[in-house]
Amino acid sequence: MQHDSLTAEVVSIGDEMTSGARLDTNAQWLSRRLGELGIEVTFHSTVGDTLQHNIDVFRTAALRADVVVCTGGLGPTRDDLTRQALAAVLDQPLELRQSALDHIHRLFARRNRDMPQRNEVQAMFPVGSLEIANPQGTAPGVDATFQRPDGSTSRLFALPGVPAEMKRMFDETVAPRILKSGGNTRRHIEHHVMKFFGVGESDMEQRLGEMIARDHVPRVGITVSSATISLRISAIGESPQECHRQIESTRAEIMERVGELHFGDGEEFEQYHAVERMLAARGESLVSVELGRSAVLANWFASLGESSTYRGGFCFAKLGELATVLDVDADSALETLRRRCDSQWLVAVDEYPSLECSDEQPLPAAEVTLIVVDPTGEVFSTTSRLGGHPSIIYERIGKAALAWLRRVLTEPRADRHDHPTTAAR
Ligand code: ATP
Repeated sequence: MQHDSLTAEVVSIGDEMTSGARLDTNAQWLSRRLGELGIEVTFHSTVGDTLQHNIDVFRTAALRADVVVCTGGLGPTRDDLTRQALAAVLDQPLELRQSALDHIHRLFARRNRDMPQRNEVQAMFPVGSLEIANPQGTAPGVDATFQRPDGSTSRLFALPGVPAEMKRMFDETVAPRILKSGGNTRRHIEHHVMKFFGVGESDMEQRLGEMIARDHVPRVGITVSSATISLRISAIGESPQECHRQIESTRAEIMERVGELHFGDGEEFEQYHAVERMLAARGESLVSVELGRSAVLANWFASLGESSTYRGGFCFAKLGELATVLDVDADSALETLRRRCDSQWLVAVDEYPSLECSDEQPLPAAEVTLIVVDPTGEVFSTTSRLGGHPSIIYERIGKAALAWLRRVLTEPRADRHDHPTTAAR
């Protein structure tokens, strides 16, 4: 059977999900990953912590999907029933696996704790099933094959609910095993994530055209998070080298189409990383000023930890307040601050709109001025109309400010398009 004709079902287990206390993000993540492997996810099921209901859901899933990936219920407590439910569906008893028990003992020892007796249950596996190593947590996963009455099979993978553990186990063990089980030689999968800012998702889709079609080889997936667009290239091939070749040529084609919006590569890479890198390479530094009621830039740069490129972030309701503190005119406040902070560059947002009365509705676009002061004290400002949902508007504005800063940093002085103004305002 070719892997790209396989179907999958994702099962999320836990009262937390069925009661609405927690959003099921695992199913979304797993469906994307399975899609990248060329596997169509035909069902999502969510079930609470009741043994019989788990058994019913697993059996139904195994009868209708070639691959079943479930998360949750592998913990040591009495309401963690995934192992028992799997054993019942497979009609196999649970047995203790010494290798899994050793792993759990080692994990507790590393934390300087004795293993509680009840954790032993996490080393129990249905007879005939395989372990899925969990480098980050106590619960190993289970990989079992279900025999259907007609002789065909379904592969069941049970992973812990904790997203970080589940993701690593899927990428490191489950995905390679699924590719192998497809019975073909294209067993390697490599991912590459590219990051963009500056257009909406639909414009991006239009410019990428057939590159993001489901049948494109390699697959290119598009996701958006607070106005940052990620393109994820997933190459499947007979060797890592073949995957890298696919990724390189696709990456080059993407750069041809939308290169001017690209700011870096990597799942966690954001514009503030890009700015830090650019400044570090030049041996220069930055200070930020945020007017209004937010400090997203300061938060992002602070998250970098100790950094010689970031001098600090200042947050005031209005420019006049900064000027009062510095005891200068509002017109020269930003340049004065840049010099006093001994920083080459300053970036400022003037100003974040108020979210009072926003009532969780998208805010109408407001005029926001984004300002960069360069090492000579020259000011480059641009005014954008930016709106959006209250939950992302501040991040979007902060990102627009960083995009403006990157542009001023990279463009030759004479080409910095918007009008330089002489006053620092
Ligand atoms: P543990 O060893 O931590 O008990 P487990 O396999 O039993 O692992 P659960 O107890 O079901 O997993 O879930 C652990 C935590 O993982 C939950 O409290 C929840 O925060 C998170 N989690 C579980 N399932 C999901 C899901 N589908 N989406 C997002 N988060 C989830």
